[in-house]
Amino acid sequence: MEIGGVFALATELEYEVAERISRMVPAAELVRFSNSGTEAVMAALRIARAYSGKDGHIVLEGGYHGVFSEVLWYSAVEDWNPKHGDPEILPVGEGVPAIIRPLFHTVPLNDANAVEDVLKKHGDDIGAFLIEPIMGNCCGLTATKQYMQDVRSLCDKYDVVLIIDEVKTGFRVAKGGVQELQGVQADLCTFAKAVANGYPLSVVAGREDIMRKIGNGVVHGGTFTGHSVSLSAAKKTLEILDETDALANIEKYGRKLQEGLGQILSARNIPHCFVGHPTMTGLFFSNQAPKDYRDWINTNYEFYDAVAPELHELGILVEPDSREPWFMCEAHDMKCLEETLDKFANAVDITLNKLPSERRHIVTA
Ligand code: PMP
Repeated sequence: MEIGGVFALATELEYEVAERISRMVPAAELVRFSNSGTEAVMAALRIARAYSGKDGHIVLEGGYHGVFSEVLWYSAVEDWNPKHGDPEILPVGEGVPAIIRPLFHTVPLNDANAVEDVLKKHGDDIGAFLIEPIMGNCCGLTATKQYMQDVRSLCDKYDVVLIIDEVKTGFRVAKGGVQELQGVQADLCTFAKAVANGYPLSVVAGREDIMRKIGNGVVHGGTFTGHSVSLSAAKKTLEILDETDALANIEKYGRKLQEGLGQILSARNIPHCFVGHPTMTGLFFSNQAPKDYRDWINTNYEFYDAVAPELHELGILVEPDSREPWFMCEAHDMKCLEETLDKFANAVDITLNKLPSERRHIVTA
């Protein structure tokens, strides 16, 4: 901060942080910086289009990848009637040009046949598969290792660039992110959020031959890219995450939280399960997690919607939207865990008491 943040030229700090990322994430042979997750994913898609020569992309139903037009489409599962085919795909809000809709393809999670069907039909137009294997904006629903292997092979077979969006999972679920956890390697991957512990820095990284499209056809950059204050934050953050047991600690905290929540709910006969990873946990009020986003409408998210505001009243700020997992933070200690569990028990009881007796059976087993 003392010497300033924007120098227009690259700095040594940029190189140092890139080297650390490369060591931690094997897929990251070359690394470029931006400021937001949106920018990084936008860049990854542009590089993939340039490399493959194909403009379309596949995303998972229920996936979220930022606020730019190519990904601002969603599968309307809320009003969906399975008898009438696949859910409708609609733009998220206004101003998203209808003309780009044909570029956007969706597949349900964990169905490799569906991926191959889409690629058989549209493979000549699809240049990228953009996937968040632990769906950080969709309850933490998780791709199986087998599915990721199948997706990896299908991308190779149909000349599709595999982009793994690690904006949420990166430097959280493992030192090498979800790719380490699932034993899969992306062609391109994106990071933000944890990489600089809240300072505005994002990363697009990947295979050298693909990344070299930057400066060789693809434009990339911007006034604040590689901002030195954000890079300093990333340098320290990554040093801590790489060289201490910080990530093991948040995983442990997450497991204890799940255990505690589980005991509270079991004592009240409330069916529940957890999905995702202990560091980013989705909580469902059903015995079985939904298998994909389509299945989410069959879970009891009404109860979540009712408990969340009670928790807020008691001072525990959880996501009001049941599709957002709960993210662990290393600053939280065991005292914090105890308080959270106490208040959770309280919030559940308040919610149960407020439910009219004829509706209680929808919650308790
Ligand atoms: N990708 C994923 C997986 C995300 O979770 C988000 C943000 N929630 C983004 C991209 C966009 O990042 P940002 O909000 O920094 O633009």
